[in-house]
Amino acid sequence: MLTAILVASIAVANPVESFVRENPAARLIRSADGSSLVHASGFLAETGAARPEEAARAFLRSHGAAFGIANDQALVRKGAPPVAGAAAIRFERTFQGLPVFGADLVVGVDAQNRIFLVNSGNVAPATWDRHLLGEAQAFGSAVSSFARGARGVEAVSVTAGWKAVAGALHAVYRVDFVARQPAGDWRVFVDAQTGRALFRAPLRSSVNGNVYPVSPAETADALCPLASGKPSICAPTVSIAFPNLSSGTDLGGSQTTVYNCKGADAPTSSAGIPGLCSSVAPLPANGGFGFSADSTFQLNSDDFSAAMAYFHLDKHLAFFKKLDPNLPSGASGRALTGSLPALVNVQEGGKAFENAFYSPLIDAMVFGQGAHADYAYDATVMYHESTHAVVSAWGGFDIGIDAQGGLDEPGAVNEGTADSMAVSETGRSEIGSFLSAVNPSPLPSGRELDDPGVLRSCQGSGTQVTILGGLNALNGLDGEVHDDGEIWNGFYWEVFRGLRAGRARPARRSSTRRCSSPREPGRRSTATGRRSSPPPRHSFRPIPGWRPMPTALPGAARWTGATAR
Ligand SMILES: [Zn+2]
Repeated sequence: MLTAILVASIAVANPVESFVRENPAARLIRSADGSSLVHASGFLAETGAARPEEAARAFLRSHGAAFGIANDQALVRKGAPPVAGAAAIRFERTFQGLPVFGADLVVGVDAQNRIFLVNSGNVAPATWDRHLLGEAQAFGSAVSSFARGARGVEAVSVTAGWKAVAGALHAVYRVDFVARQPAGDWRVFVDAQTGRALFRAPLRSSVNGNVYPVSPAETADALCPLASGKPSICAPTVSIAFPNLSSGTDLGGSQTTVYNCKGADAPTSSAGIPGLCSSVAPLPANGGFGFSADSTFQLNSDDFSAAMAYFHLDKHLAFFKKLDPNLPSGASGRALTGSLPALVNVQEGGKAFENAFYSPLIDAMVFGQGAHADYAYDATVMYHESTHAVVSAWGGFDIGIDAQGGLDEPGAVNEGTADSMAVSETGRSEIGSFLSAVNPSPLPSGRELDDPGVLRSCQGSGTQVTILGGLNALNGLDGEVHDDGEIWNGFYWEVFRGLRAGRARPARRSSTRRCSSPREPGRRSTATGRRSSPPPRHSFRPIPGWRPMPTALPGAARWTGATAR
């Protein structure tokens, strides 16, 4: 039942109890110490005022004490003046001319200028605090409140004011800034007398989205069961918070920014991004980026792949920054120093594009929409490719040729590193299982680091051997970067597995993989005929039982069609 009251000057010893007596049916919430009200509704207070703001001020003059308004406070209206009709009028409290943070009052006024609701932030009795520090000192205190400090700090604002802390009103500085590391929008309240950081809050709101934890063929815990020799599709999508978004109005974040190309070609220059591709808006009604997965994996317009790319690229880039938060001096490349663009649903000339790659020339990730697979649907593919972006930003590896022949081991180390960092995310040795599940031969499929059949080894003898279905190649290395990268990825997997087991023991296949031989592998031979010219930058070669997934090398202008990986 609503109780109408007439606003009048009421002098009472206890303003809260007085308000309660006059409005016995009102719904109330008291402050933690019971000294004031933080909410009142279910009443109707006549004011006789002609305008909403006058009505609110008249009510607070009479009843403000119940909401913690003291004589030394002033009320400053926030926002535009309300016009006729129901309105919510927000006031900022000030004390000694400075704002009291977190102590705003909101007064609900109906169309007849009657008060029906009050919400109040926390206040506390004034103290003798003073603002002894300057703004620069306050900013320094805020940044150093992080254990390792904050880097890449921008958009700083420092505001002097007051805040209720532990039952008293303290002089504080409110310091807001955006930091690249730790990534986020931060608000730190600093004690204006001591410089101590009182508390810190992340301001960047989290928005959820739908993703596969790994891929349609792999859950967070395991690969899907095999069916007819191929991985099956078994994994559900999950809704999860998308970290590090800049505004939440698109898939732009501090570490990666994703565009949906909807079948268009990828841009051909860094400045040309996003080209024909477009930003991805969230769903209406706070649906975030909870797009449904395309169960055919063949649509070139779905936004799910964009959400998948955002989440997993951000995750992998954060993984690297956690490994070593100290960026190399002179680092260039957006994987380390900016927001790495990613383009999904890319096709070529309107036709299926069976690939995914990092291009150092446009400094962006590209994920194709193939005939059977959306290449952004497998997180392990993204982890592999984005590792190339990080390696490139860190300085990259140079492949070359000299008087003794082609030198492609740097490229092989690059590929092996990309494989290694990908399996570090899942803890499993398979990469690209989703591609194996849906792609028919000879399209790209998965890669296995724990492969007992692999012949390449750093202990190769340098002799000619027949491998991989008839290829005459150098024992140890064959001059193809993904093949030769197996030496490093297999060694890494053995180390990874050994560390995880928590004991130092020789790995099971150490006889074929462990790089203990003092002799340098025969990397310069031209006997295979594959080393006498600059090393092949990319070549796709179907291999029974094992096929590489698409990858890319630094320095490549563009990776095209089925010949790229
Ligand atoms: Zn690669």
